[in-house]
Amino acid sequence: DRIAAVDDAETGVHAFLHVNREQALAAAGEVDAKRAAGEQLGPLAGVPLALKDVITTADMPTTAGSKILEGWQPPYDATITRRMREAGIIILGKTNMDEFAMGSSTENSAFGPTRNPWDLDRIPGGSGGGSSAALASFQAPLAIGTDTGGSIRQPAAVTGTVGVKPTYGGVSRYGLIACASSLDQAGPCARTVLDAALLHSVIGGYDPLDATSIQQPVPDVVAAARRGADGDLSGMRIGVVKELGGEGYQAGVERRFGEAVEVLGKLGAEVVEVSCPHFDYALPAYYLILPSEVSSNLARFDAMRYGLRVGDDGSRSAEEVMNATRGAGFGAEAKRRIILGTYALSSGYYDAYYGQAQKVRTLVTRDFEAAFEQVDVLVSPTTPTTAFPIGEKVDDPLAMYKNDLCTIPSNLAGNASASFPCGLAEEDGMPVGLHVMAPVLADDRLYRIGAALE
Ligand code: GLN
Repeated sequence: DRIAAVDDAETGVHAFLHVNREQALAAAGEVDAKRAAGEQLGPLAGVPLALKDVITTADMPTTAGSKILEGWQPPYDATITRRMREAGIIILGKTNMDEFAMGSSTENSAFGPTRNPWDLDRIPGGSGGGSSAALASFQAPLAIGTDTGGSIRQPAAVTGTVGVKPTYGGVSRYGLIACASSLDQAGPCARTVLDAALLHSVIGGYDPLDATSIQQPVPDVVAAARRGADGDLSGMRIGVVKELGGEGYQAGVERRFGEAVEVLGKLGAEVVEVSCPHFDYALPAYYLILPSEVSSNLARFDAMRYGLRVGDDGSRSAEEVMNATRGAGFGAEAKRRIILGTYALSSGYYDAYYGQAQKVRTLVTRDFEAAFEQVDVLVSPTTPTTAFPIGEKVDDPLAMYKNDLCTIPSNLAGNASASFPCGLAEEDGMPVGLHVMAPVLADDRLYRIGAALE
């Protein structure tokens, strides 16, 4: 009922692309029956969730925000979908997103934009704007996002919600439609830190179906969230990243960030400034590595295997049908990145672009390693600005890419990071996010800090 009241595609939030009312009610009924029969259920049994439409569901269409997959019904559940169902979580439906998770505003969705519940004229972040908007508008208490360059954390920041990008390999990618495979990571989104931790513990852990899944137990994120709730951070060393702030950052964002850091100090943490000199080069490196992987991953949408097929009237060759389908099925941003990636990977340019970008990736990773010898976590604002008006940056891809300045380094290095709400900017009354970065497999530290701040 809440979804029907606030989520209209034309005038409302438009967080959902697909709502599975009957099946959600049936799943809730099953949980009730189990509970009545005295079965021992997990803490999230019966709790509704909004699922980003890039994660496969055997009982609902999965579009990745693209016309090329419109109406496609996956034959199987993603590992995380299966784990959530087994935990009794009720999947309400699938949420809107930038096409194939490319964007920072959800305006690249083929199905129309999602609006920020705090101000319907502003963007809810992206690519997972549907999931964060569903949380912020109280349509669901839990959501799943995926984060390739910030798509969990940036939407969380601009909607005042919690979003965690786990350590790469910490949550299975089996059934996650690939954007850039070496960067993609699914993770929990919620309105409270403990809720996110509980969801993280359901979806996380080794999966033999994902070749990059880490064969180690998930750190005890629930215990860390509970521990953090007592508000004591003594013994923690926190590094403020010098390179992530200053020019180009909105004054209200910097102010709320500064106050959050002060609070962390008051809670007992030792706060120092840390330099990560190669973070300045992370954004350009990412925008070579990501399109390169995208150009390869999106080659599978060939008009034969999935979804849309255009011009197949018997008179055209397979190649003509493929070209017509890809021309009509992909949006402008997907095409831009396929072309960019194909160019960067072409012989003669490979070393100059892709090879160089991979070297920068190593340098960014080393910056993290050196920083984590001095401190337990790093912090920065999650985004340089609060949510901007819908339409403001659609014609300026570079301005759009700059949203990811702070979030991209963690994707390049694969370490855990998160965004937690830290107040509203006074200029526009919009939410600001505190970005916390922890070493690989130290996801628990994020939760301790997030819960202490809450
Ligand atoms: N905004 C970034 C991009 O467009 C991040 C996307 C993501 O994390 N999926 O690539």
